Amino acid sequence: MVQSRAGVVLATFTLASLTLFFYAFASSSPEAHNYHEQQPLGNEELSWQHTKRVAIIGAGSGGSSAAYYLRKYAGTQPVNITIFDTKNYIGGRSTTVNVYNDPTEPVELGASIFVSVNYNLMNAVEEFGLDISGFTEDRPGEENVDPLAVWDGSKFAFRQAYTEGKLQDWWSLAKLLWKYGPTAPMRTKKLMSSTVGKFLNMYEAPLFPFSSLSTVVEEAGLLEATSDTGEQYLVKNGINGKFPTDLIQASTRVNYGQNLGLIHGLETMVCMATDGAVSVRGGNWRIFSGMVDASKAEVRLGTRVSSVTRDPNGPNPKTWVLSSHGPSGEVVEEEYDDVILASPYQFSELTISPELKKTPDEIPYVTLHVTLFTSPNKLDPEFFGLPVGDRVPEAILTTLNETEQASERFTRGTSSDAVGSVGFFSISTLRSTVNFNLDPGSPSTDENTRKGRYEYLYKVFSPKEFTDAQLYEILGAKTAEEAKISWSYRKIWQAYPYLYPRVTFEDPIMDTGLWYTSGIESFISTMETSSLMGMNVAKLIANEWEKEAELKMKYHNENGL
Ligand SMILES: Cc1cc2nc3c(=O)[nH]c(=O)nc-3n(C[C@H](O)[C@H](O)[C@H](O)COP(=O)(O)OP(=O)(O)OC[C@H]3O[C@@H](n4cnc5c(N)ncnc54)[C@H](O)[C@@H]3O)c2cc1C
Repeated sequence: MVQSRAGVVLATFTLASLTLFFYAFASSSPEAHNYHEQQPLGNEELSWQHTKRVAIIGAGSGGSSAAYYLRKYAGTQPVNITIFDTKNYIGGRSTTVNVYNDPTEPVELGASIFVSVNYNLMNAVEEFGLDISGFTEDRPGEENVDPLAVWDGSKFAFRQAYTEGKLQDWWSLAKLLWKYGPTAPMRTKKLMSSTVGKFLNMYEAPLFPFSSLSTVVEEAGLLEATSDTGEQYLVKNGINGKFPTDLIQASTRVNYGQNLGLIHGLETMVCMATDGAVSVRGGNWRIFSGMVDASKAEVRLGTRVSSVTRDPNGPNPKTWVLSSHGPSGEVVEEEYDDVILASPYQFSELTISPELKKTPDEIPYVTLHVTLFTSPNKLDPEFFGLPVGDRVPEAILTTLNETEQASERFTRGTSSDAVGSVGFFSISTLRSTVNFNLDPGSPSTDENTRKGRYEYLYKVFSPKEFTDAQLYEILGAKTAEEAKISWSYRKIWQAYPYLYPRVTFEDPIMDTGLWYTSGIESFISTMETSSLMGMNVAKLIANEWEKEAELKMKYHNENGL
């Protein structure tokens, strides 16, 4: 499934696809330490080439991709890459936890979904032979349970009907058109296609590689999308009525915890580009682990980098001294030619000296509470105003109610104001599970005779803690005994930036030999865009080495060396 960068097949917009990005739930358990031997590409090494030393701070999508592409782009230049991460796993915000603490039951805790136009991720899936699944593939898919609805706290603004067997795109589209008319959905699809098409130019010359993100955004023709709120961008493009607030906003909320009055137009379009949404079985982190393996980098997990220092007046003015603190508290100081910071600067607790000409601005991030839990109970129809006995749709997205929608406090708000009276961004039934830990009738350890209990795995996104009392309520229970929650896991993320409209972005070059990937997050915050920036920085570095090598070769030739 390698994607051709030229032949861009853009998303088929259906309501089915709308939900894809949000409700992926894969997982795995974070990897253990993973060290690799250094293997400089030494065969064709020229006598005057010295092995470049590159440090990468962060083993998420950005850092892993930087390592992977640097190894590819380095060509004959020998290079040793060292990746540091404070966490003891590879993947950063792409990580999993194990349901029932069972390693065969991983579930995504962070980034869940990527889509067919995510070239770097899709190509890596193919190269590393990873197994992917469609976003609804693992859903219970029980008879007469609608796949999706949008809830505003008192009523369903939209409900997609159950169709025999499985979701059918034509039906989804028919339902969409029936409810909203053809204009808004069709215009949205067209706008999304043209916006994504512009973005994809950033992968190719002449735009790639780019040393200024602000400039490339302008050159790609995307400033009009980033400089407006989603609301303004949609109105300017003739997309009005309830379709944006019912459905597009449900999508920006589940993906980014933000409403259309705040999030910029480009990220709004990203939320609609959901064609071919998938996740990697076992966890999306496998992509990044594969990249790190392929890069042959040395990986130092559980190791925090505290400072990077360069002495412009010293004997090695271009060399960075990096100080790191290993898992046993050991402090190591080492020299590097290039250092890549692949984490938001504001969360890295990194001291950089000399002082940067432009320190990345601190920007607000969305504090997102992710609550995973299992129970044999179904979601309570009465909580959602449905008759007793009705089944609640598998995925509940949310939007503001009409009163809140009229108020900027909510449409432009953050956190509790953004979520409004509904109180959560989404609740989804990820899959059915069998809980073998609770098998009073048949406590056998034999796989074939164990019966276990049929349960559902749910995931809630909310801006504040989703309390036990709230969990009981949505399960229609009054007590813990009634709720029968057999396993739960809570995580608070600084998930992604509040994507306010903007026209300038943090650049990838911080200083000579000091590079930054996370500026791309206020442009688009996804695994793919972090990977794109990792690839971009790798290419910029490789180009510099190439220029340096040419100069040295010229000098050697001219001096008969
Ligand atoms: C709940 C949630 C859902 C999401 N859903 C999706 C989705 O469905 N699809 C999608 O594409 N994106 C999604 N995202 C966004 C996506 O996860 C991020 O945009 C992307 O993973 C960022 O990757 P990164 O490598 O830039 O940063 P990170 O993944 O944050 O990696 C940075 C790493 O740097 C390390 N680090 C920081 N400072 C130091 C230091 N001083 N020393 C050593 N190590 C350091 C950190 O420990 C971290 O591991 C989601 C995010 C969250 C939280």
